[in-house]
Amino acid sequence: MKFILIFLFSFLFACNTSSVNSAYKDYYKYQQLYISSILDNNKKQEIKALKNLIECGKYLNFDVKEYENKYKRLYQKPKVIKKSKKEDITPNNRPKKNYIKIISSNPFIITLPANKVKHFILKKYINVFDIPNAVISKPFSKKIKSIKIKTAQFNKITVRVVIYSKKIKYKIENKKLIIYLTDNKKQKMKTLVMPKAFRQKIIVIDPGHGGKDSGGIGIGHRMEKIAVLKIAKYLYNDLKKMGYIVYLTRHGDYFIPLRDRTHFANTHHADLFISIHCNITPDHSLSTKGVTTYFLSPTRDKRSISVAKIENKGVKGLNYLDQNVILGFLNHDRIIASQKFAIDVQAGVLYSLRKKYKDVIDRGVRPAPFWVLVGTQMPAILIETGFLTNPLEAKRLFDPTYEQYLAKGIAMGIYNYFRKNP
Ligand SMILES: [Zn+2]
Repeated sequence: MKFILIFLFSFLFACNTSSVNSAYKDYYKYQQLYISSILDNNKKQEIKALKNLIECGKYLNFDVKEYENKYKRLYQKPKVIKKSKKEDITPNNRPKKNYIKIISSNPFIITLPANKVKHFILKKYINVFDIPNAVISKPFSKKIKSIKIKTAQFNKITVRVVIYSKKIKYKIENKKLIIYLTDNKKQKMKTLVMPKAFRQKIIVIDPGHGGKDSGGIGIGHRMEKIAVLKIAKYLYNDLKKMGYIVYLTRHGDYFIPLRDRTHFANTHHADLFISIHCNITPDHSLSTKGVTTYFLSPTRDKRSISVAKIENKGVKGLNYLDQNVILGFLNHDRIIASQKFAIDVQAGVLYSLRKKYKDVIDRGVRPAPFWVLVGTQMPAILIETGFLTNPLEAKRLFDPTYEQYLAKGIAMGIYNYFRKNP
């Protein structure tokens, strides 16, 4: 009996390498499992997830070195960690850089380091080509014959080419990937009447903090958790009126762990996730003010990292390596989608606020490692709506008129994002 159970268990935790498609699905499944095990500090689950990530990753020709090191490290003493970490960065271990070039757009021709490409189809119409041991210097996204084509550095050693079309033909010849794009009018008609376009979009709004976690506390003991809930509720009503399906991660003043917020968005199959916050200056200097929108991404920007530190307090025990491994999981397409979403929201907010408050400062769109955004499967952003340490903004952030203009601006940003990215 025990044997059967073990057998069943190990079968449940295995990478399905029967096809590229299933391995690809499993790879992402185990990434999610790995991230949640790190956030839960569940070592047993972490080892299982890593083992399968490595198996799937190797099959898919992905760079799994980082996970292999982590897997080994889980059995070794801390002293060994430093050694293996050093080894990783010696120049000899770096993969050789094989830059590839696009030499023609129709047919679409891209040079290869070798006659080797992995091809698979997602959602029945997305053709994905992964080119191993390759580097692309200028990733691009454009339409050729009404067919969307994207190229990106998928990970350190893999270049990904994505063609959003059902009907393509391709061949690999003399270290070249040649893709023939046919402008299929019938297919065009189909996309026009696709019910998907009329599907109601789902948005999850996350008012930051709550309950025992008051968030930033500013001038006049004004608490972040109170202001953000009010803004979130205005936004909720605006989006509902616009016809979206909307959820709030919290409706009142109570505490929710960061990872439950993300989990909520995933289980509700949200198309967008937006976390709403107010900023404080760490040294409580009064003059700093303005609106910033962040998207989840690895960054070296010191200012972004220090803001993230304040907001990340809800997640304990994440070391530097795990943080980087998690950030390494983010794929290029998702980072770009979140960045686009952030740009639209930031623009919407500034446009709306400046109709009435001309002095509002634009602090821009920035990448930052916010843990509330980790693990979301949809474009996700975090907006810092203003500074509670600035006398003027502290007052405004608790003023219903200002809050309503803010919410209208965010709603406008969301509308614009969907208009451009249906
Ligand atoms: Zn916050």
